[in-house]
Amino acid sequence: MKNPDLIIIGAGAAGLMCAITAAQRGKRVLVLERANKAGKKILMSGGGRCNFTNLHIAPDRYLSNNPHFCKSALSRYTQWDFIEWVERSGIEYFEKETVNGLSGQLFCRQSSKLILAMLLNECRQQDVEIRLNCEIENVAHQRGAWSRQAATGGRQGNKTVAADAFSLKTNQGVFISETLVVAAGGLSIPSLGGSGIGYELAESFGLRVLPTSAGLVPFTFTDSMHGVCERLSGVSNEVYLFNTRQSFREDLLFTHRGLSGPAALQLSSYWQAGESIYVNLLPDHEILSLLLSWKQQHPKALLRTQLDHVLPRKLVLELENLWWPELAETALAEWPNVWLEAVAQKLEDWPLLPAGTEGYRTAEVTIGGVDTRDLSSKTMESTTPGLFFIGEVVDVTGHLGGFNFQWAWSSAFVAGDSI
Ligand SMILES: Cc1cc2nc3c(=O)[nH]c(=O)nc-3n(C[C@H](O)[C@H](O)[C@H](O)COP(=O)(O)OP(=O)(O)OC[C@H]3O[C@@H](n4cnc5c(N)ncnc54)[C@H](O)[C@@H]3O)c2cc1C
Repeated sequence: MKNPDLIIIGAGAAGLMCAITAAQRGKRVLVLERANKAGKKILMSGGGRCNFTNLHIAPDRYLSNNPHFCKSALSRYTQWDFIEWVERSGIEYFEKETVNGLSGQLFCRQSSKLILAMLLNECRQQDVEIRLNCEIENVAHQRGAWSRQAATGGRQGNKTVAADAFSLKTNQGVFISETLVVAAGGLSIPSLGGSGIGYELAESFGLRVLPTSAGLVPFTFTDSMHGVCERLSGVSNEVYLFNTRQSFREDLLFTHRGLSGPAALQLSSYWQAGESIYVNLLPDHEILSLLLSWKQQHPKALLRTQLDHVLPRKLVLELENLWWPELAETALAEWPNVWLEAVAQKLEDWPLLPAGTEGYRTAEVTIGGVDTRDLSSKTMESTTPGLFFIGEVVDVTGHLGGFNFQWAWSSAFVAGDSI
C-alpha cells in the first residue's frame, strides 16, 4: 500500500479492531505483524473458545496506576457493541457458569477461530493491508517526510504540503505514515508474539513506561508447599484466596508446580514478590462452629471423615499430615477445643508464601506499561502527536474473564475513530 493514512504495529485484538474502525471511516490502513499469522492470542484464548467479553464490564475490574483512565474508552465502545457484532456475524456464544453462578464471561460455542475470522473478514472488506512476517528494525519521526494533498480553497485546488511523519524501516522495506498506532501487546507468552517493542518505542519518544510484571499467572513454590502441590496436582476446590489488597472467591487448582485456577490467576495480578497469600478452604462455612458441631454430633468420627464431606479427600489427607498428624486417629470427642480452634484457624486463613510466579512464559497478561499520564483517555493519542498506544501495551490490565479483550476492543475503537 502506498501512502497509508496510518500504520499499525501488531495484528492482535487491538490492532485489528483499530484497523477496521479507521478503515470503515475511509482511512487507508497498513498493519505490520511480525508473526506468520494474525491474532494468535485470539486463537489460543479461552481454551480455544475466546472469552471475548464480559457482561459486567466495569472500571473496577481493571488495574492501572490511574483507575479512571479506562472509563472513557469502555463507555464509548461497550461489551454490548461487541456482542451486537458477534451476533450479527452469526457466532453462537454462551455465558460460562462458575461456582458462583453465571459469571458474565462470554465464550464462543464453537471456536475462537470464528472471532478471528470475523475480524479478518472485515479487514478484507475494508481493504486493510496486513503484512505478516514483518520485522521492524527502526522507527523514526521525521520532519516533513510526508507529502500530502491539502485543500487550499478557492480556485487553486489542492497543493502538496510536507508534514511530519513516522518512518518504519522493516525487513520488507520502509513504510511512512503520518499516524502510527502501537498495538504490539505486552511481554506475556513470547511464543505467541509477546515483545517489548511497544515499551521501547514509547520510551524512545519520551513517554513514561511503568514497571511491568506478569499477571494472571500461576504461583510457584519451593518450600514444603512444592511437594504438597505436586502430590495434589489436579485437585481443585472453590476457595477464598486473598491478600491485603484483594480477595477472590473462585476455584483454586493444585498443579505440579504450584497453584493455578481462576483464584490464583486473579490474585497473582495483585501480588508482589515476598508477600504471603491466604486461603479460606471453606468459604461457605463458619468453620469453628462447624468443627464444634461435628464434635457434638459425631463424637466417634475422625476429623478427616467429617472433612471428606466438604473437601476433596486427597486434600484432606494432605492437610491431616500437615496440621494434625498426632490426632489423625483420635475421635473428635477426644479433641481438646483449642486444637479444633487451631485447625479452624488454618482452614480459614492458611498462609502460603509463593516463591514466585511462572512468569511471562505462561502469563495471560502484562501488568504495567505505557503510562496513561502520557496518553489521552479519549483517543489514546500520546503526547507525541500522531502516535497512539492501544490494548495491552498500555498500563490497563483487566481481571480474568473477558475484560482484557474488551479493553483491546474499546481502546482500539476510540483510537481508530479519532484518526
Ligand atoms: C493463553 C492466553 C489466553 C487468553 N485468554 C483470554 C480470554 O479468553 N479473554 C480475554 O479477555 N483475554 C485473554 N487473554 C488476554 C488477551 O489475549 C490480551 O489481553 C489481548 O490479546 C491483548 O490484545 P493486544 O492486541 O493488545 O495484544 P496481542 O493480542 O498480544 O497482539 C499484539 C500483536 O503484536 C505483534 N507484535 C509484537 N511485537 C511486534 C513487532 N516487533 N512487530 C510487529 N508486530 C509485533 C504480536 O505478534 C501480536 O500479534 C489471554 C492471553 C493468553 C496469553
